[in-house]
Amino acid sequence: MIQHTHRWIWLWMLCLAVIVGLNHEAAAVTPIALKTSQASLLIDEQGRIALKPDDAAIPSPADFQSPLWVITLAEGADVFTPGRAVTARAEGKPQITKVDGGVRLVYDKVRCNQTDLDIQLDLKITVAGDEFRFDSTIVNKTRNWIVRYWKYPILLDIEAHGGRAESEAPVVYCPDGLGRRYTTRQAFGPRREFAYPSRLATMQWLTFTTPAGGLYFASHDEKCAAKTFAIAEGRGAGYDVSLMHRPYCAPGVSWDAPTTVVMSYRGSWHAAAQHYRQWVASWLDVMGRPQWAQNSTGWLLAILKQQNGDLMWDYSALDRLADLAEARGLDTLGLFGWAHGGHDREYPDYIPDPSMGGPQTLRESIARVRRRGLHVILYANGQLIDSATEFYRLQGTQTMVADRYGKPLIQMYNKFKSTSTPLFVTACTAAPAWRQRLMKLAQQAHDLGADGILYDQLGVVGPKECFESRHGHSTPAASEDRFDLIRQIARPMHQLDPNFIVMTEGVVDAEQADIPYFHGCGTGFGYFTPSAAATPFPELFRYTFPQVVATERIPNPFLTRNYANFACIYGLRFEIESRYTGDVKYLTSDQVPTPAEYADCNSPPDVQLLQKVPRDESSAYMRRVAEFRRTHGDLLLRGRFIDLDGVHVEAEQVVGKAFESDTQIGVLLWNPTDQNQSAKVTVDGGRYIAAFAPEAEGPVDVHTPIAAESIRLLIWNKP
Ligand SMILES: [Zn+2]
Repeated sequence: MIQHTHRWIWLWMLCLAVIVGLNHEAAAVTPIALKTSQASLLIDEQGRIALKPDDAAIPSPADFQSPLWVITLAEGADVFTPGRAVTARAEGKPQITKVDGGVRLVYDKVRCNQTDLDIQLDLKITVAGDEFRFDSTIVNKTRNWIVRYWKYPILLDIEAHGGRAESEAPVVYCPDGLGRRYTTRQAFGPRREFAYPSRLATMQWLTFTTPAGGLYFASHDEKCAAKTFAIAEGRGAGYDVSLMHRPYCAPGVSWDAPTTVVMSYRGSWHAAAQHYRQWVASWLDVMGRPQWAQNSTGWLLAILKQQNGDLMWDYSALDRLADLAEARGLDTLGLFGWAHGGHDREYPDYIPDPSMGGPQTLRESIARVRRRGLHVILYANGQLIDSATEFYRLQGTQTMVADRYGKPLIQMYNKFKSTSTPLFVTACTAAPAWRQRLMKLAQQAHDLGADGILYDQLGVVGPKECFESRHGHSTPAASEDRFDLIRQIARPMHQLDPNFIVMTEGVVDAEQADIPYFHGCGTGFGYFTPSAAATPFPELFRYTFPQVVATERIPNPFLTRNYANFACIYGLRFEIESRYTGDVKYLTSDQVPTPAEYADCNSPPDVQLLQKVPRDESSAYMRRVAEFRRTHGDLLLRGRFIDLDGVHVEAEQVVGKAFESDTQIGVLLWNPTDQNQSAKVTVDGGRYIAAFAPEAEGPVDVHTPIAAESIRLLIWNKP
C-alpha cells in the first residue's frame, strides 16, 4: 500500500513536470522529466536525479540521492607536478535550464573547504533513444588548481524499488576478464573497482539485473581513456556505482568528459550486451583477420629457455615441438624465452641466442615448421624493462613510467624459489622510444620468418599514470595509450605482410581493432565448471563480441577432456604450456614428473592432475576434438557465439551454448559430469539436421544420453 502511494506521487510529479515543461520550454521549473520508452528521469532543483523504470521491478538507483559527483583537485599549475589534493562534492543548487533533448546543470563554482573555487561544471543530461546520456565539461578558471579526478555520475542504492524483486540484490555483471556474474551480495563482497583498460575491465560497461530487466551503465568513450568503475554495497539490498575519470585539467583549460550512458531495459543482460556491441561497431575500425588466425585450433606455448638458464629446447628442436603440436591438433607454436636472456630476463633485448643455435638456425627452423602448415609466434613483453639491461641504463628515462618523484614503477616476476628475481621497470606505452623498440622487435620477428609477435601483458595490466613530461603525453593519465601503441605497430606490419599478426595476453575490447588473436588471461579463460553459483561468466564478453579469437588459459602441458570441452563451449582455442623441465619430461618421455621435480617452481602446472592424466590419452582427445572443430569450422571456428538466443536447452547438468553461421545454428552440448546425461534442445523456427560428436563417425542418435566428459554438436538449418 505504501508502495502504491509512493508511485502515485511520482506519477503526479511527472505529469506536472511534463505539463509545465510544455508551457515554458526553457524554464527551470523542477522537477524536470526526461522520458525514454522504458523509463523516466526526474531532475530536482538541486540537480539530483530519480530514475523511474516503467516496470518498477527493473533495478534503478534510489530517488534524489547525493552527491551525484565528486571532484578531486590538486594544488599547482603543472599537471606533471600536482601538489596537495583536496576533494569536493556536489553542493548547493546548479542553474538548471532545458536544452534540446534534455537539461543543462551549471555549477559556477566548486566549493572546497569553505572556499569557492573558480571551476565551472557544465553538466548535460539528455535522451537519445532509450539512453539517458550524462555529459560534462569542466572549465578550470583557477590559477593554481588542477582537476585531477572527476567522478560522475554516482548512482546510489541500485535495486528494484517495486515489484516482486524488491529487497533482493540485483544480479551484477562485470567486465572482469571475459566476465563475472555475482548473484548475491555475499558473493560480490563490499566493494570492487574495475580500472579500464585492464584484465579487470575489458569493456566499458556493466549491468545490474532482475528477472524483469536491467540497468545498463557504460562509458561510450571512443578514445578508450583510462577510467575506473566502482561498485559498492548500497545501504539497502542493492549497490552503488560510479565512474571516475582522470582529466588532469590544468588552470585555464577546459575538459570534456566522455559520455556516460545509463539505460533501463527489459529482458536479460543480452540486451545490454547488444547495446554495447552496436555502439562499438559504430566506430571501432577493425583490421582484417588473416584466415589462418580465424581458423586456428590453438597453440602450444613453449618456453625454450627459462629465467634461470634451463635450456629446454634449442632452435633445432622446433621440429620436435611441431610434432607435439600436430599430435594434439594444435596449429601454432608460441615461443617464449626464445632469446638470449631466456624467459622474463634481459627485456627488451631479444637477441637470437648463439647457445640455442643462433639466428640462421632459428630462421631455418621456423621455415621448416611453417612448411608443415603450422604457425610460429615470437614473444616480446609489451611493458617490462629489465633494470639489469643496458637499455634501462641508457634509455630508462626515455621509456619508463615515472612516478611523481621521477622514480620507476618496479614489478617482479620470479619463476624459481632458488634464484633471485629480476627487477623490472614498467614501460610507458606512450613513450616514442618504447614504441620504436617494440616496432623493431616486430620487424625482427618478421625477418626471422615468424607469423607474428606477442606483446605480453598489454591486455592484462592496468592503466598507469606517468609523470615524465618529456614522453609527449599531454597528462600523466594520457600515458595510458596502449591502443595507439598497438595500432602504430600492427598497421604497418599488416601493410608489409597481411598474414603477420600482433597478439597480446589478455583481451581488451578495443584491442580487437588491431589484434586478431589473443592469448587468454584472466577471469573466464581458465577452466571452471559452469553453475548457477560460479562467478566466472565468459558469456558476457563472448556474446558482446561473438567472433573474438582467443585461447583458453591452461598452464599445464596437457588438457583433460573437460579442459578441451570447456574451450569448445565458449569458442576458445586450445592451449597447453611447456614451461619447466618437468613439463618437457611429461611431453617427451614415458615418465611422469614427480611433485618434487616442480618443488623449485613458483607457478608450476597442476602437478596433482598431471600425475593422473595420461599424456597419450590427452593428446588423442585433443586431436579428435580439434579435427571435429575443423570439420564443423563454419560453426565452431568461424561461427558467431550467440549464447542461447532462440535456443532452449532442457537438462540437469549439461551445459549448452550456440554458434551461428550464415545458414545454420549449432548447439554445442557439454556433459562435464562423470555420468551419462540427457538433454533436450529446441531451436526457434529451425529445421533440425543432425547431431555429431568428436568420437563418432557420422551422425549420432540425438535421443541417446551424452557420455561423461563429452560434447555433442546439434545442427539446425536457420529458418
Ligand atoms: Zn610517460
